[in-house]
Formats: sequence, structure tokens, C-alpha cells
Amino acid sequence: MLKITNPATGATVRELPEDDATLLAEKYRRARDAQPEWAARPLADRLAVIRRFREIAVARSEALARTLTVEVGKPITQARNELKGLLPRIDFFLEHVAAVRSPDVVLDDGSMRETIAHEPLGVVGNISAWNYPYFVGANVFLPALLTGNAVLYKPSEFASLTGLEIASMLHEAGVPRDVFAAIIGGGSIGAQLLEQSINGIFFTGSYSTGKKIAEAAGRKMIRLQMELGGKDPIYVAEDVDVRAAAEATADGAFYNTGQSCCSVERIYVHSGIFDTFVEAFMNAVKAFVIGDPMDDQTYLGPLTRQAQIAVLEDQILDAVAKGAKVLCGGKRIDRPGFFFEPTVIVHTNHSMAVMREETFGPVIGIQQVSDDAEALRLMNDSAYGLTAGVYTRSQERARRILAGANAGSVYWNCCDRVSPRLPWSGRGHSGIGVTLSKQGILAFLQPKAWHLRAPR
Ligand code: NAD
Repeated sequence: MLKITNPATGATVRELPEDDATLLAEKYRRARDAQPEWAARPLADRLAVIRRFREIAVARSEALARTLTVEVGKPITQARNELKGLLPRIDFFLEHVAAVRSPDVVLDDGSMRETIAHEPLGVVGNISAWNYPYFVGANVFLPALLTGNAVLYKPSEFASLTGLEIASMLHEAGVPRDVFAAIIGGGSIGAQLLEQSINGIFFTGSYSTGKKIAEAAGRKMIRLQMELGGKDPIYVAEDVDVRAAAEATADGAFYNTGQSCCSVERIYVHSGIFDTFVEAFMNAVKAFVIGDPMDDQTYLGPLTRQAQIAVLEDQILDAVAKGAKVLCGGKRIDRPGFFFEPTVIVHTNHSMAVMREETFGPVIGIQQVSDDAEALRLMNDSAYGLTAGVYTRSQERARRILAGANAGSVYWNCCDRVSPRLPWSGRGHSGIGVTLSKQGILAFLQPKAWHLRAPR
């Protein structure tokens, strides 16, 4: 049985039966058998089904948000935000799938016709993360289903109740049960999913798990997409409104208790404003309300995973041993559940894990830099490459710096932001492939090149 724990209390809220190898193989076989009929349906049918899924999600949003808060510890207002943010993603895919999958005629000279057709991959696996289960799940299952694929969906073991809600809403909306099947369990059933004859694997999670999955997928020669972690930097130049930049970047670092793939994970501040920035940043952090995630006033909840507390403690110890100064926080909060104090560290450098490894919690390092060139060098001094941002009044200056940033997404005067219209992709240890945007629909299709010569 899989124990579902409330991270705000440490109490077990439910126990769920887990899938085993036999059940998984059965779900795979059924998905394989059901997929051709699903793909053969007119697109209008599949669009109508996903529109119904949208209606159900809207009607149930408060209950869904509460389930998310109970099992993940996400503050309730942020859980509601996630449900709201799901809707523009659904709308984007509904609007664009027809054009993306329609055939392209690239030559027609009377005797020869060349056409590119787009076919679904078949049965795809989706192994998902817990931190934004609606977002990262929907980035995969919506375009996968709309383009005619069957999906074996393994939600994170830390967001399995939400995973089951997603499955039941899709089924209620009209997706056949065998076309979308939830696989319940942890890493070992995820690894077994890779042993089925799936046609693609779409993964969201950490670099260390992603590497194992990429190795397994490489042996199978199947479509692979990896949305992995980040160590996302922000550079704050000396010409900004200091207070506004400090408040925005503090929110970028601490929203969702710092557990976003695109959380601000390190901040470089121009020496001209370093002290005033740090003071404004500290004021913003002191104003955060920490507490019961079910409370509307709470901004910082518990960590979702108890094990992450040791990671945060190790990073802080390592930084202090190497000369950093902890301005606030630094330890777990003495109350039930997995709460950790919001922590701000200065006097950091790149020998410290807190500036190099994903923190994934309410801990941020702020480092002084003397100019744009030093900021860019440090921003790029990372194995990760998910997002990077610059705060400055000058768009030209931001463009110059960001053109050199090794990241899939770049931000001017904003951070911790995802748009369904733009490709979401990571470089280096942050991943392979693209979700969202039209490219994130194409990811679930394979091309067939038609060479058609008319008879003489
Ligand atoms: P994780 O790697 O621990 O787990 C992710 C999923 O992989 C879970 O469903 C887990 O059960 C499964 N898994 C674990 N071991 C496996 C194995 N050997 N084979 C197959 N599956 C296995 O990650 P997490 O803690 O769920 O998520 C946090 C990570 O996800 C962070 O690094 C975060 O940055 C990243 N993330 C990235 C994005 C993005 O879009 N780039 C979005 C959200 C989260």
C-alpha cells in the first residue's frame, strides 16, 4: 500500500493500493489495443472530450485544490492558482492542435506531390512530479490525448490522490479507461513502465532520476522528453526600483515554498545597490506568513518531502563552513510536519552547493557582482539551464545579457513564469525536448513523408 502523508502534520491521510508488474502489463496491453480506435476518432470528438474535462475541473476546482493542499502541502491560495492556471493551458491546446497535426503539402508540381503527415506515437508513458501536478501533467496528457495517443500516467507518489482525480475527470469526460490509465506507486513501478513496449516517455522530475530514465529509453530507441530541475539565476542591475525588484525576486524564490522547477535559486546583485537590495529583500521575506497551508493567509507551507530537510541543512552547513552568512532562517521549524524557516544567505560564492545544486526549498543565496560581465559569467556557471532573468530599466541591456544566457527561457523584469504559448525547455541537466507551445504538441506526433507520383 502507498501511504499518503499530509506534509503539514506528518499524519497519514490515506493508503492506496499500488500497481504491480502484472497490473502494469495488463494496463499496457489494454492501452495498446484501445489506442487505434481513439486515434481514428474525428479530432472534433477528442476536442469535445477535453472541453468536458475542462468543465469538470472548473466545477470541482475548490475540492481539487484542497486535495492538492492536503497531500502536497501547497498553500491553498497557490493550489487554487494552479487550478486557475490549468485553464489557459487547456485552451491553448484546444485552439492549436488541429493546425499542428494537419498535413503540410510541401511540393505539388502536377506530377509529384510531397506531403508531411503527422501520426500519433502510439502508447506513451508519462512519469510526473508532485510540485505542480496539474501543470506538468497537463503539459503531457492534454497534447498526447488530443493527438490520438494512449497514455500510461504515473503521478508522483507524493501527488497520487491528485493523479487519481485527474484520471477520473478524464474518464468522466469521455476518455476511454484503457486510453488513459493511472499507474500508482513509486520509483520502482516507474522503472517498470520503461520495460513496457511504449513508444515514448515523457518525464518531469529531478536530474538524477531523469538520467536513469534517459539511459533506459536510449536502449529502447523511443521518443524521449525530460523536464528536469534548475538552478535558476537572476541578476539585479543597479538601475532598478530596488524595493520592487526585491519583492518580485523574493516571491520568485519562495512561492510554492521554493519548490518550483523555475524558482529563483540564486540572485546576483550589482555592488552599487547590494546593501539596499538585501535590506528590502529581508523585509519582503519577514512579511511572509508561514503556517497551516489550508489557511487563506498562509504564503509559506511545509516542504512536501521530509527528506528535503536534510538537503537544505547540508547546503546551509556547507555554505557557512565556506564563509557565507545566514541573515535569517537556517533550520527546520519546531512544529509537526515538514516546515523550514525561510532562509537568506549572503557572502556566497560558487564553491558552495547552495549556488550550484538545486535547493528546491525556501533557501536563497544572494551574491554581489561588480558588473554585467561578471553576472553573466556566474549565471552561466551551472550544469543546469532552465531559466535566467535580468532586472534593469534598460531593455537593450537585458537583451544583451540574456542573449548570452545558456537557458531555455529568459526573463526581463519578471521570473518564475511559464506561458502555454512559449516553448518550455531546459538545457544541460535541465532536460531534453519541449513542452507547451506548438512544439509541445508536435512532440506527441511522428512525421510520415509521403512521396506521391501521379501515373503517366
Ligand atoms: P523525482 O525525480 O524524485 O521523481 C519524479 C518521478 O519519477 C516520480 O513520479 C517518481 O516516482 C519517479 N521515479 C523515481 N525513480 C524512478 C526510476 N528509477 N524510474 C522511473 N521513475 C522513477 O522528482 P520529484 O521530487 O517528483 O520532482 C522534483 C523535481 O522535478 C525537481 O528537480 C524539479 O525541478 C523538477 N521539475 C521540473 C519541471 C520542469 O518543467 N522542468 C517541472 C516540475 C518539476
